[in-house]
Amino acid sequence: MRRKVIAGNWKMNKTPNETKKFIEELKALVANTENEVIICVPFIDLATAIEMTKDTNIKVGAQNMHFKANGAYTGEISANMLTEIGTEYVILGHSERRQYYNETDETVNLKLKVAFENGLKPIVCVGESLKQREDGVTKNVITTQTRLALDGLTNELVEKTVIAYEPIWAIGTGKTASNEDANDAIKTIREEIANIYGNETAEKVIIQYGGSVKSSNAKELFEMSDIDGGLVGGASLEPQEFSKIVNYDK
Ligand code: PEP
Repeated sequence: MRRKVIAGNWKMNKTPNETKKFIEELKALVANTENEVIICVPFIDLATAIEMTKDTNIKVGAQNMHFKANGAYTGEISANMLTEIGTEYVILGHSERRQYYNETDETVNLKLKVAFENGLKPIVCVGESLKQREDGVTKNVITTQTRLALDGLTNELVEKTVIAYEPIWAIGTGKTASNEDANDAIKTIREEIANIYGNETAEKVIIQYGGSVKSSNAKELFEMSDIDGGLVGGASLEPQEFSKIVNYDK
């Protein structure tokens, strides 16, 4: 049985002081869950979040990293910088990075390999735009993004990759994919992984759904056969609401 992994993506929200306050409240609220709880915070909040989550079941992730180890890349952060301070996860290829910062399937693949080389656990985002959905090319978009992201990885590393299926039209819009549509898209991604890496590997990959997940729809989504939890944006910014999503099965 695959575990449920529920990750918050704070995007560009919260200062270190706000991070401290958030975790002080969240830690008791999620202490009894068997689901994996992750908060992916801005770089500036990582050290505070890592310190504050010591001796808790909350894991901490970054939202991006560079694929180079160091060099003249002003404003960037490398994988070894993240691991040295104790960061466990990193989101790669979020649609906002693809849309605003020239993230491509090629850079996602490079970053994924470097993340693993440095002991980080990647959460790789894939998903179609509204236009692509309307044009009927969703399947092609999500299988291509998945295949190119994982290209060159061993089966062992593919099994350790968390994938987040996030239809772009559902991110931050309040529109959620129907349970069936989200589950079908995730099945499609799993089938693509099975075609390349075999069924045994594909069955082990955690594939989350992301796109306007909130406490009122988390249960119905996460109980679908292939949805292994969620990547949660807006609803992860408030401890009570986020804890209800994490505790959807209580
Ligand atoms: C996200 O940021 O990955 C996301 C899914 O955002 P929201 O939950 O706000 O749609």
